[in-house]
Parts: sequence; structure tokens; C-alpha cells
Amino acid sequence: MEPPESAAGGRKRRRRGGGRNRRKPSSSSQQAPAPAAAPPPPSSPPAKRRRKDGTGQAAATPKRGNTSSLLDKMRARLSGGHFRMLNEKLYTCSGQDAFDYFKNDPNLFDVYHTGYREQMSHWPEQPVNVIINWLKSHNASWTVADFGCGNAAVAKNVKNKVFSIDLVSDDPSVIACDMAHTPLEPSSVDVAIFCLSLMGTNYPSYLEEANRVLKPSGWLVIAEVRSRLDPNNGGADPEKFSKAIIQLGFSLVSKDEKNKMFILFYFRKKDKSKVAKSIDWPQLKPCLYKRR
Ligand code: SAH
Repeated sequence: MEPPESAAGGRKRRRRGGGRNRRKPSSSSQQAPAPAAAPPPPSSPPAKRRRKDGTGQAAATPKRGNTSSLLDKMRARLSGGHFRMLNEKLYTCSGQDAFDYFKNDPNLFDVYHTGYREQMSHWPEQPVNVIINWLKSHNASWTVADFGCGNAAVAKNVKNKVFSIDLVSDDPSVIACDMAHTPLEPSSVDVAIFCLSLMGTNYPSYLEEANRVLKPSGWLVIAEVRSRLDPNNGGADPEKFSKAIIQLGFSLVSKDEKNKMFILFYFRKKDKSKVAKSIDWPQLKPCLYKRR
């Protein structure tokens, strides 16, 4: 069931039951807080109607022509709130916790990705497209691992063999796991991609896993949200981030900073790579989306 409908269902139940006592258990359930926290602003059409007759009933019986657009707006608002809650969850928990969370309710993954696509539609350039073009301009015989593949856009758009990895799989070609521990063989891939997917609080363990599965001289391509790497804005120092990856056994080949919303890093695993004894990983700031 789509979450906006389930939230609307929750409202119906409240109207019928009427009592405060019935309201509490549903709002304390795991997924309820986001929709409940997103009431329509006072200037929205349903609120105006309520004020006009003072009963609050008019909002439930809007003019016919407006019904579907009103419902669409409410649905969009509820799912937007739900997306932001899931997004914050992903940025503030470990990969294992995220994996367990989505395993309990895989539908949440669709909610997340619907919201994610909506947010990304406002970006002038999609980082995943830049990476796809980069791959197309290189070697089609390279094996690729796409860590945190989302809707597996990389696999769908290149000729290379791609292992698509994410927390949930609704497609048999996507490997569902916490990407800190993939089933891939050691030294088996030529390119490891992280496109806006270094989300968990244990993100260094994802890069360690990429290091494990990459062949010597393999490429590590990372696209990250610019604000997460903006020290003037509470983000990490991009130099410190690169330095940590160099200490993992990579060289930084190039950095592409020309895009407004994201930074791209192209690293290569050293032939005789050696992991430093202790690596000073910077904390990456969560990327929390604003309500639109
Ligand atoms: N790379 C895709 C999707 C980016 S959204 C694109 O650019 O279009 C980030 C993705 O990383 C989400 O699909 C999320 O589920 C995934 N992800 C985050 N942490 C993960 C983890 N620990 N293991 C596997 N996937 C993870």
C-alpha cells in the first residue's frame, strides 16, 4: 500500500472513532510521525474553507472539480514528509540498522525513492548521468560495482557488467545487502561507484568494502552532495576526505567541482596498495532536504 493512502486511512479512522485515546497508538507507531508533523499551512485551500463556515467539515466536501487536486496535494505533502523522515534516518544510522529497517517494510524503499526522484528533479544535472557518461567514454569490458544503486540507472544505461547493490531489491539483478558487506569476490571489479550513497554513519566501512572488491588499479568514483563537503557550512573538509581515501590505498586522479549540487572524485587503487594503520575519517554532514 502506498504510504500516503495509509496515512489518509489513519485520518478516516480518527474521524469515525473521534476519541483522543484512539488517536495515540496510531501516532506513536513507527511511521506515523512524519505525516502527522506536516499539517497543511493556514493559507492552503482546505484551511480557508474551514474558517469560512467555522465547522471544519467543508474540507471533507470540497467542490468536485477540486477534489482530486486537493487529494493530490495532500498526498504529495504526506509523502514528502515521509521521504524526509526516511532520508534523515538513512543519514543518521548505520548501514546495518538501515538494512534491518527496510527489511521490515520494503515498501518504505519506494517511498524513499519517490521522494528522492522528486528532489533530484530540481537539480540542474544528475550526478548519476555524469558517471554513466564517464563509464561510456571508458572501457565497456570493465566490471562495475554500483554501491547504493537506487533504481539501478547505471546498469540500465551502460554495456558493462554491473553489480547493482542496495538495501532493498525489487529487481533480481539488484543485490540486497548492507554494502559494508557485499557477496562480491575480492579483487573482482574494475570500478566501484558511490553516487550520493555514502549515507550511513559508518560510511568508511563502505569504502573499505570497495577497496576489498576492487582490483589493483581499479577506479573508485564518488559523487557526494556539495554541502556535505563544505567546511564553511558545517560540512567536512574535502581535502581531509580525500586524504582518508588516499590512506586507504588510493591516489586521487581528479576532482570535478564544476557542478552546483555535487562534487565528483575519481580515485584509483594503487597497484601495491597498503591501508594506513589508522585513518582519520572526517564526519560527513547528513544531507537533509528542505520542505518545498
Ligand atoms: N546511486 C543512486 C541512488 C542514490 S540514493 C543514484 O544516484 O541515483 C542513495 C542510495 O544508497 C539509496 O538507494 C540507499 O538505499 C542506498 N544505501 C544507503 N546506505 C546503504 C547501505 N548501507 N547499503 C546499501 N545501500 C545503501
